[in-house]
Amino acid sequence: MSYDGFFRSELEALRQEGNYRTFAELERHCGDFPNATCHNGPGDVIIWCSNDYLGMGQNAKVLTAMHEALDRSGAGAGGTRNISGNTHDHAMLEAELADLHDKDAALLFTSGYVANWAALGTLASRIPDCVVLSDALNHASMIEGIRHSRAQKIIWKHNDLNDLEARLAELPTGQPKLIAFESVYSMDGDIAPITEICELADRYGAMTYLDEVHAVGLYGPRGAGIAERDGVMDRVTVIEGTLGKAFGVVGGYITGSREMCDFVRSFASGFIFTTALPPSVAAGAAASIRHLKASNAERRRQQANVAEVRRRLDAMGLPHLDNPSHIIPVMVGDPLKCKYISDVLLKDFGIYIQPINYPTVAKGTERLRITPSPVHSTADINHLVHALETLWTRCELARRPVAA
Ligand SMILES: *Cc1c(COP(=O)(O)O)cnc(C)c1O
Repeated sequence: MSYDGFFRSELEALRQEGNYRTFAELERHCGDFPNATCHNGPGDVIIWCSNDYLGMGQNAKVLTAMHEALDRSGAGAGGTRNISGNTHDHAMLEAELADLHDKDAALLFTSGYVANWAALGTLASRIPDCVVLSDALNHASMIEGIRHSRAQKIIWKHNDLNDLEARLAELPTGQPKLIAFESVYSMDGDIAPITEICELADRYGAMTYLDEVHAVGLYGPRGAGIAERDGVMDRVTVIEGTLGKAFGVVGGYITGSREMCDFVRSFASGFIFTTALPPSVAAGAAASIRHLKASNAERRRQQANVAEVRRRLDAMGLPHLDNPSHIIPVMVGDPLKCKYISDVLLKDFGIYIQPINYPTVAKGTERLRITPSPVHSTADINHLVHALETLWTRCELARRPVAA
């Protein structure tokens, strides 16, 4: 077999569909984000699709904590958590996370993906006869973790309480059950009814596993997420989050009871057999969490910019999904046009918005996923709306009626 020939033909098929992905080679300007240099593009660009939702990647306290830890402890952790890689910075960060979510304990992973994969994989495989009830739109990392566990899996309709209850009611009363879902769904920006799901979990004796990756830092009085905003953190068995999005650094974690965290720490291959995060990363993430626990300024400015971008899109009749979150999906509905618009935004307008095509979203729902941040200016917003308006006309894309 010609292996490279095979790879080439598979890639060619992706290209034909408009689903081949190319990287923008960016250099973010610290202190001046969302401005960046695109080295394989037009040079200066403004980033409009970052998951550094609050600009914490350039926060002075975060950078100082990282520099200080780097100078104090050096570059890497030097081992797994079990063998010489466990540092004071890791312990401090886990204490910060447990406090954030008002839980007994927290456990760090090298990313949110690894946290989901390892925690769900371990819980679902090691709890005898466990059945996982998984929301239909769960993230790939959750799906892979559940699949890896080889536990029985039932997929319930996205955010549909009736469907979830019907599935729960069919299962034997005594069978261990784990309901896995997210709070803010990253591509549609809709939000799960966490309280009602917890009520069903209580009624049917199920554990709950909540991915708050797109909510931590952003919602709730201390930035602990939607469960905090809704006053139900204590009712969720496992809260999972990332340190790489609103907290602006990198890493993932779970929080919950001391026993649950210790169990995953003791049995999860994806925790045990990998080098710990660098101490500087742990120190930077802890500084970011501490800052956002006390400061609402970033959240308020972000929400104001999100509302302003929505208002301006509405005024032009540009179609976007209405949702209660900070994610603005501008709907194109065609993979080639979506890619074309993204290419021209970059090349002619210096606006970087990655097209979101299949398999990340269903075919026919291709979109531009816009994430306004507190560091976008009014001039940035004017520029974005003008560019989108120009391209909507050029591509003859449908508009919504504009309210008089
Ligand atoms: C990004 C993402 C993850 C993975 O988090 P990382 O820290 O980026 O690995 C997990 N769940 C959801 C819903 C995500 O969007």
